[in-house]
Amino acid sequence: MSGSCRLSNYDIFLIDLDGVVWRGREPLKENVLAIRKLIELKKEVFFVTNNSTRSRSVYSILLKNLGIDVSENNIITSGYASVLWLSRRRPNSLTYILGEEGLAEEATKMGLRLATRSEALSGLVDAVIVGLDRNLTYSKLNAAYKAITDGALFIASNKDPTFPLERGSRAPGAGAIVAALEASLGREPDFVAGKPNPWMVKIALGERGSANAVIIGDRLETDILMANRAGIDSILVLTGVTRREDVEKAREDMRPTCILSNLKEGLA
Ligand SMILES: [Mg+2]
Repeated sequence: MSGSCRLSNYDIFLIDLDGVVWRGREPLKENVLAIRKLIELKKEVFFVTNNSTRSRSVYSILLKNLGIDVSENNIITSGYASVLWLSRRRPNSLTYILGEEGLAEEATKMGLRLATRSEALSGLVDAVIVGLDRNLTYSKLNAAYKAITDGALFIASNKDPTFPLERGSRAPGAGAIVAALEASLGREPDFVAGKPNPWMVKIALGERGSANAVIIGDRLETDILMANRAGIDSILVLTGVTRREDVEKAREDMRPTCILSNLKEGLA
C-alpha cells in the first residue's frame, strides 16, 4: 500500500454516505467538518451511495442540514443509477419497483412508468428494479418474480448484504432481497447498478479523466473495489464497518490507496 492520504492532492471527490457522513441517524462530525472544508476550497464533491431508499432531493436536504451544500445533481444513489441505466436502454419502461419511496421517485422523474402489482402479475412489465424495501412482503416478492419470469429485465440497485446502523449494529440490505429472487429464479440480475460496479463513477465523471479524482468510503467490497475497478485512487476511512486489520486480510483488488481514521486527518 502506497500513496498519500492528503486530500489537497485531489480535485474531485466521490464520497460514500453511510459510514462516512453518518452512521444511522448519527452524523460523523470529523468527516462532516472535513467535507465542508473541501466545499469551501471549491473542490468538486459528489456523494455516491448504494442506499436507494431516499431520493437525491431528500439527500440534498439531509446534507444541507449538516452544513454540506451540494446540488442534487452531485448526489448519485444506486436507485438513480438503476433508473438512468434502464431509461437509456428502454426509455419509458413500465417498471415494477420492489423498493421504497426514494427509488419510485427517481423512476418517475426519469420518465419511467410505475407498474402496479397486478400489472407485474400479468406479464406487461418491461423491467423490475430491486432496492431495499423495509416493507417487503411475500406478495411483492412474488410479483417481481412473476414479472421477471415473463421476460422483464431484472435490475438490482445493489447487492449489499447489510447496511450499518447506529452503534455498530447492522440490518439486512437490498442484497438479501436480491438473493431471495436469485434463489427462486435460479439466475443473477441482468444488471447491478451500485458499487462495486464502476457505473456510478462513470455517471459522476462523464467524459472527464479520473487522474485527480479519489473515492472515499468505509467498505472494501464496495467502495474500494469500485475504485480499483475504475482505476481511481481510494481512501478507506475507519468510521464505518471496516477495521484496519481487515485490510491486511483483503484481496489485492480490495486494498485502498491509503487509510484514514477520519477525514479530518487528511486535511493536515
Ligand atoms: Mg458505506
